[in-house]
Amino acid sequence: MDDLESDYETIINKLSNQITKLWNQVQYYQVLVTQQENQIAKLLNENSQLKAQIQNVSLQPTPPTYPSQQSYTPSVPTQQAPSTITSDVVTSTLKRKCPNCGAMGFAIREEDDKTKIISYIPRRIYAKKRVCTKCRFEF
Ligand SMILES: [Zn+2]
Repeated sequence: MDDLESDYETIINKLSNQITKLWNQVQYYQVLVTQQENQIAKLLNENSQLKAQIQNVSLQPTPPTYPSQQSYTPSVPTQQAPSTITSDVVTSTLKRKCPNCGAMGFAIREEDDKTKIISYIPRRIYAKKRVCTKCRFEF
């Protein structure tokens, strides 16, 4: 009987040892799990912070109205300048007649009146004067 009891004791001891080992393992894994949970919480926190940063970055370039306005404004003077020149040429060629001697057409020459500058931008534009080649009359 004694032998049997001792056998049981050894078996029970062995099993209890195994159980404590398993408990240790379980506790070790629980520690690992809590560490991983902490890491996950940390990463989630970092993720939300990065998301907030991305929102800040994406908010900054939202007013892109600047380049479209800048490209629009300089086109106005370049369009105005040639239209005034063409209208000036049309009116001057229509009234080609010398008021002094009455010569018309090719007798009247158009020249730049360099004493009268109309504009400097985009280039120097002089006032036009007409010179009669027959009587040298300028008008
Ligand atoms: Zn003339």
